[in-house]
Amino acid sequence: MAYKVIIDPGHGGKDCGAIGPTGLKEKDVTLAIAKKLGELLKANGIYVNYTRTTDVFVELDDRAAIANRWKANYFISIHCNAATARSAHGVETYCFAFGDEGEKLARKIQSAVVGATGLTSRADVKSANFAVLRKTLMHAVLIETAFISNPAEEKLLKDATFQEKVAKAICDGICEYLGIKPKSDNKEEV
Ligand code: ZN
Repeated sequence: MAYKVIIDPGHGGKDCGAIGPTGLKEKDVTLAIAKKLGELLKANGIYVNYTRTTDVFVELDDRAAIANRWKANYFISIHCNAATARSAHGVETYCFAFGDEGEKLARKIQSAVVGATGLTSRADVKSANFAVLRKTLMHAVLIETAFISNPAEEKLLKDATFQEKVAKAICDGICEYLGIKPKSDNKEEV
């Protein structure tokens, strides 16, 4: 059986999400990472869909509805964190409730992203009553990749190589959770 993963790039269109000190918009970072992640998952034989693939506004309810209609097995929402304190930094991954498969998947993603980027792990995993986690019928995870409000992390988030690194780490975490040996580096294919 092939798994179906739906990727949800946070924000879009009139909703820019958080904006970094130099003007980087969260909606652009989430879309870039989401597209890279989708390609990597497809290379591992996973069916991929998105809640948006362009710079458009999609309501939270509609994001969940798209995932539910498609009968995805897993929902991966991608965001950037923000805080008024510019010093706030690091990676956070959320599940809806502790004790289910979403938590297990979130743990794999959190440790893969922290391991690959060297960024601070703010917590093993957190749970939150976010609409996209609550209204999706499948296991759902939301990742706050790094703080766009932190000047050093904003610089990373703007960088295509860093975006690729985060996407690959999320893919590795999903593959590890699913028991798939990740084949995300074309150069090392055997
Ligand atoms: Zn966001």
